[in-house]
Amino acid sequence: MVKEVNFKVSKEIEELSNEIFEFNKMFGDYSRLTYNPYAYELILKEITNVKEKAITLEKDSSSKNEFDKLVIKHILSCINTQEMFADYFSNPKTKYTIKELIDKINGEGTYDYVENTVKEYPFKEQWDRAHSTKHIRLNVVRNDTPEARGMIESMIPNFKQEMLTLGKQLGFIPENYDFEFILLPPFGNPRSNFRIEVNRLELNPLSFICLKEGDSYRIQPAHAYLETAHELLGHGGHNQFSLRLPKCLHLGGMNIANLSSKAVAEGVALDRESWGLEHVKKIKESIKLDDNELNAVLINHKIKVAESTWYPFYTILKERELIEKEEVNGEDKGFNVQKYMEQKGFPYYFYRDTRWQSDMHITQAVMELGYIAGVRLVNKVREKIKKEFGNEFVNKEQVLINKALAMGNWSCEVYEEFVIWYLKEVVGSGSK
Ligand SMILES: [Zn+2]
Repeated sequence: MVKEVNFKVSKEIEELSNEIFEFNKMFGDYSRLTYNPYAYELILKEITNVKEKAITLEKDSSSKNEFDKLVIKHILSCINTQEMFADYFSNPKTKYTIKELIDKINGEGTYDYVENTVKEYPFKEQWDRAHSTKHIRLNVVRNDTPEARGMIESMIPNFKQEMLTLGKQLGFIPENYDFEFILLPPFGNPRSNFRIEVNRLELNPLSFICLKEGDSYRIQPAHAYLETAHELLGHGGHNQFSLRLPKCLHLGGMNIANLSSKAVAEGVALDRESWGLEHVKKIKESIKLDDNELNAVLINHKIKVAESTWYPFYTILKERELIEKEEVNGEDKGFNVQKYMEQKGFPYYFYRDTRWQSDMHITQAVMELGYIAGVRLVNKVREKIKKEFGNEFVNKEQVLINKALAMGNWSCEVYEEFVIWYLKEVVGSGSK
């Protein structure tokens, strides 16, 4: 009963989509140079140009099909967000606030959601995690000795095959898909990364832990499963399924970092990561993970997004302090971070001393919120699917749903609408 959906758009939309793809690369460069007035001027000119075309296409969309309309809506949402971002950071007379910008980029209500998450910090879990590995902590040895590295490398071929099989079973990657697997060297930046353009997974070597137990050594790969689930089954698969759609919905170029679709890209990847965790639970015996070790991995997964939200949020509060000034009788009565936190009931620690934190630029801070906003968004869309199609459908069509969630790097404002439309189309009850 599942039918193929046609993602062909009109020639005009396709042309604009290609133009947007190129523009996003330009915008990516600009987003690191927002203080440069020359770059700002160029960006404004290009925004006006593409926006005009999109509005013209939107106006005569009466004869266009549903998919055409969704693509135009996506394009306009992306441009409007970019326009607001450029205005906020490059126009000294901007009328926008950082709060408005965050909600525009990552979805309605994001700022408040983030604030509540930081306020309800998972302190108990953080404490539990710190203690859950105490029985093995002193057995962890360096994993970059030739012996340990050799043990890890010998695991890679089977590990890669296992992840491909898992990804195909759950509909995270296409059936005939393969990729290049690189275990990063024990020096340089160890961060895991999926390189869209060259279809290459670069895996953090620290995601394999080496333990000495008695006379023997054990490699503990739990984090390698989670990181591979995020990068490969998440970003890699998302890219694969998006290739059938117009270029402005791909993840290549700078699209994976496009402001309004950042939450969708990271939301899909984090969704896959939680499936990776389910897999680790299933295979815990074969990878010799004891209950306490597994527990540490589970807790870490549960709280890491909340933990990583605190820091960008603090940067945003400092931005408010800097920008939201109000002179009363020569005195600044504007936004005061410490007072704000005290009044709002943030935990004591937060308004004491955070000066030891390293610098984060405000343009990066607003993008970092894409992780927490993404988890919230994908969960919301999963709920909507349940409501719209019922529990039976959800249980039976898990693979189809997983695929639908990764089809196109949509703006967070259009994502839900597309997923529901797509599912209706494939099960054959959609309107033409
Ligand atoms: Zn990611």
